[in-house]
Amino acid sequence: MSETVYLNGSFLPLEQATIPVLDRGFIFGDGVYEVVPVYSGQPFRLDEHLARLANSLEAIRIRNPLSLAEWQGVINRLVHTNDHFSDQSVYIQITRGVAPRNQAFPPSSVAPTVFIMSMPLDTPTQALVQSGVSAITALDIRWQRCNIKAISLLANVLLRQEAVDHGVAETLMLRDGYLTEGSSSNILIVEQGKLLAPPKNEHMLPGITYDVVLELAEANGIAYSVEPISESRLRAADEVWLTSSTKEVLAIVSLDNAVVGTGKPGPLLKRMYALYQEFKKQVMRRQVPHHGQ
Ligand code: PMP
Repeated sequence: MSETVYLNGSFLPLEQATIPVLDRGFIFGDGVYEVVPVYSGQPFRLDEHLARLANSLEAIRIRNPLSLAEWQGVINRLVHTNDHFSDQSVYIQITRGVAPRNQAFPPSSVAPTVFIMSMPLDTPTQALVQSGVSAITALDIRWQRCNIKAISLLANVLLRQEAVDHGVAETLMLRDGYLTEGSSSNILIVEQGKLLAPPKNEHMLPGITYDVVLELAEANGIAYSVEPISESRLRAADEVWLTSSTKEVLAIVSLDNAVVGTGKPGPLLKRMYALYQEFKKQVMRRQVPHHGQ
């Protein structure tokens, strides 16, 4: 079955969705995006993802092309049109539109390009959850606005490829001796039973999963603290966690070929993983499907 996508107000088969080559997303990487996980047809934390999208748009001065209700409507319609995938990952991209090549913004009459597609959501397998993954570190060579979910991801692409070249799952980035995040994930550590998360600032993306994990820690009496994490604390951590909408919460058990903790997912990770799965189920049960919206 052909996948249906949304492009500038129309729902159409993926093969028929095309954009002009002068789109500023293609020419300059001038745009922002979001990825929303969908479980059993229910978008997870949709309002938070749409709020982050609105922040990214505002930060790069693109007017938000749809209202909150319109975003909810088109996303739910796309999810239900593609319900041959049980769990989905909805990708939303907005660029500054199509205009003759010139770095300065085009006239305000140029409409942003809005594209949404849905892909199968591949959360980590049980085997991976139980084994954990390996990672490497690298210098954070990105810009100073990493809190914007920009489509210009060249540095992330190069950093992720370094991980692939080393046969590992993720590259953790260090800036001025401090942990920022992974190439497509946030990173938290555990020190003597306490969860530590780096503070949100312009050097990292404010992760939706990061927020869920800290909320679950708060609600379940797990000690945690939001503070800068130096490279030496990262390397000495008892546990290192990776969080993202598609990877959920996953243990990093080896860093630059050195074992993290016992080399297996730690006790706090196992507890958080169970809390996260339970939370997902509660949210799914609470929500009512939005058929046909
Ligand atoms: N940091 C970066 C650089 C990312 O690309 C992602 C994935 N979107 C994250 C963190 C995790 O964010 P979230 O939990 O909202 O998926």
